[in-house]
Amino acid sequence: MSGAARSPASAGDQEKESGPCAARNRREWGAAHVEQREISRKGGETRMQNVAYYNGKIAPIEEMMVPMNDRACYFGDGVYDATCVVNHVPMALDEHIDRIYRSAGLIEIEIPMEKAEMKRILLDLVSRVEGDVHFLYWQITRGVGMRGHAYSSAGKKPSLWAFVRPSTMRDPYGAYTCITVEDKRFFYCNIKTINLLPAVMANEHAERAGCDEAIFHRGERVTECSHSNVHIIKDGVLKTAPCDELILPGITRAHILAICRREGIPVVEEPFTLREMMEADEVFFSSSSALTSRVVKIDGRPVGGKDEATFARIRDAYQLEMKRECGLL
Ligand code: PLP
Repeated sequence: MSGAARSPASAGDQEKESGPCAARNRREWGAAHVEQREISRKGGETRMQNVAYYNGKIAPIEEMMVPMNDRACYFGDGVYDATCVVNHVPMALDEHIDRIYRSAGLIEIEIPMEKAEMKRILLDLVSRVEGDVHFLYWQITRGVGMRGHAYSSAGKKPSLWAFVRPSTMRDPYGAYTCITVEDKRFFYCNIKTINLLPAVMANEHAERAGCDEAIFHRGERVTECSHSNVHIIKDGVLKTAPCDELILPGITRAHILAICRREGIPVVEEPFTLREMMEADEVFFSSSSALTSRVVKIDGRPVGGKDEATFARIRDAYQLEMKRECGLL
């Protein structure tokens, strides 16, 4: 952890928050992660601490068994999506479902269910867990079959995996630190594939450096982060990488752009360089779990801090949108 700059509270991890920002965050978003209570479901069933799903089977995550021959195990042959859940409402769920169908289509997986059925399954899982804030993850893999590179051995039945587990909201008022890492991923970054080795290693290196995220660059060009998009603000203009094959089209990114257009903040969707980032007025990264996270240090050097007002307009509008969607307002 990098002192006050490190806020661990993301929908993807479980550490405890501390400090005044965190206290405000807990007041606003609830404190499901410290409460161990039993709540009754509508039908009188007891809610679970967490829940996993695999092709119709439901069990606690720790007990779920999956077939070794699922191509996820050998090839990472699949796509995923994830979002945070507040008050049992998964944020922007329809957009995440649209994206997983798009990702699957791009690797020639035909999902054998309607979007409405996927939504029904995910909402049912969400309704089974106790607490206020959760992380919802799901993936579609090409299916089960004897190991062989070509798909024909996998049959024609993709697998749906999912889990819901307790989480905490990332502190939107925090100050975060990053490292930069050469982007060695392949050219399918627009697909949310479960092949995540370069992202996993970059994130590990960020953590070892006491930082919150790793910012990828291909030469001088900044692409995105290990599991978020990165944006800069310069002279009142938001600049963010265009949606090509080098970045994931983040759903939070799309919401941020819509907010900027509504708020009259000009947006430029163009590649920017490491140097532009280091000299920007503000730098922040975004994702469904990181929300809008303001960056104050990159590779140990101070960045941003020159236009907090513009960043705060975006952050606050996004917070408001989330609170409305999950029924907190
Ligand atoms: N870029 C990458 C590589 C990601 O893994 C993610 C999220 O997991 C994002 C961007 C942000 O996407 P979203 O805002 O849809 O969560």
